[in-house]
Amino acid sequence: MTQQLPDPNGKFGPYGGRYVPETLMPALDDLIEAYEEFREDPSFRAEFEHLLHTYVGRPTPLTYARRLSEHLAGAQIYLKREDLAHTGAHKINNALGQALLAKRMGKQRVIAETGAGQHGVATATACALLGLQCVVYMGAIDMARQQPNVDRMRLLGAEVRSVDSGTKTLKDAVNEAIRDWVTNVRDTYYIIGSALGPHPYPLICREFQSVIGREAREQMLTQAGRLPDEVIACVGGGSNAIGIFHAFLHDPVRLVGVEAGGYGLNTGKHAARLAIPDLGFAIADSGNEQSNIETPNGKAENLNSTIHNPKSKVGVFQGMRTMVLQNDDGQIAETHSVSAGLDYAGVGPEHVYLRDLNRVEYTAATDDAALAAFHTLCRLEGIIPALESSHAVAEAIRRAPALPRNSILLINLSGRGDKDLNTVMKHAQRTG
Ligand SMILES: *Cc1c(COP(=O)(O)O)cnc(C)c1O
Repeated sequence: MTQQLPDPNGKFGPYGGRYVPETLMPALDDLIEAYEEFREDPSFRAEFEHLLHTYVGRPTPLTYARRLSEHLAGAQIYLKREDLAHTGAHKINNALGQALLAKRMGKQRVIAETGAGQHGVATATACALLGLQCVVYMGAIDMARQQPNVDRMRLLGAEVRSVDSGTKTLKDAVNEAIRDWVTNVRDTYYIIGSALGPHPYPLICREFQSVIGREAREQMLTQAGRLPDEVIACVGGGSNAIGIFHAFLHDPVRLVGVEAGGYGLNTGKHAARLAIPDLGFAIADSGNEQSNIETPNGKAENLNSTIHNPKSKVGVFQGMRTMVLQNDDGQIAETHSVSAGLDYAGVGPEHVYLRDLNRVEYTAATDDAALAAFHTLCRLEGIIPALESSHAVAEAIRRAPALPRNSILLINLSGRGDKDLNTVMKHAQRTG
């Protein structure tokens, strides 16, 4: 299916590719060449695998969620525990792989951009381990919102540069990182944190994250004696999802990607690029009707007609051709999610292709559904999940009761929720 993709131009069908300034084309060519050399190099692979084992803590466990399964009285639920990887999420797999690639390419300096700070922390960690200089670009607003991660990056020896242009958030930080790369391309490696950006980044990130699915597939066979019926993962840029999906692409296994439904897909405040509300897909929410709200004169109005609802359309965004949430003028839309890691206007190009092929089904979970799932997993399993991962848990909670007892749902638990405690406590106060 897409195992052989992307094609030599970095295309997944019509998506992906390389849309960057001319000055960066040679750098991307170098990266392709280096990646192709090292992916086959036994000493590179051995070093990466050794670090995954002795430093990241792989293989991460597969946990049978007994109490959650009993509670839902339907499918049996298993959790792939990326929350137990070093730094608390799957992002370290990619950051470490790319930092190793940077070192092999003879680059002494690494740059990255970060929104919530999770990719910045993973990159700073990998650079400290390998002795590489690290500069992380971060929007000024994000720095204020995510101070603990700024502190972590600095403790790990990284320089965090505040970006004061534009909306002072992630996309402005990306622009600054690209500017830096253009200027310093000879000694600098740019680590992109998800399965997106210009070719070969979506490919490289997928390859470094696909360890998740390889492990999970084997663990399912040993622990449950068979493959799961469905695999569910949240989709921000798409790296943890593509990482677990790839090993199952050729199996009779249903694959489900869950995007951020925010306040609801009809409110204009979400980050669903692939789960298109017009098609009437059911989405996981906590039961309160969100698409109609009371207006001051007391009449319920459909938000579709009153609120500016961004449309997901094919466009060129941050180096790739993909689905992008945009307004009527083609400007990048502002997105919303309770989880910072899913709050992004674009998505990895391979996911768009997998959707077109009908191989992966994309849906969304609202903020409320994710928060409810967060609490459910805490209380029933003793696991505090990341709010991103809670979207996948919410979808499993929605599906499981209708499925037979002998069916199996596998959730990719992409990260742990320590970073989200402030957000969760604030919501708990508001709702009593
Ligand atoms: C960053 C992040 C995500 C979203 O990124 P993907 O590239 O879509 O995986 C999901 N979960 C956690 C815990 C994250 O930190």
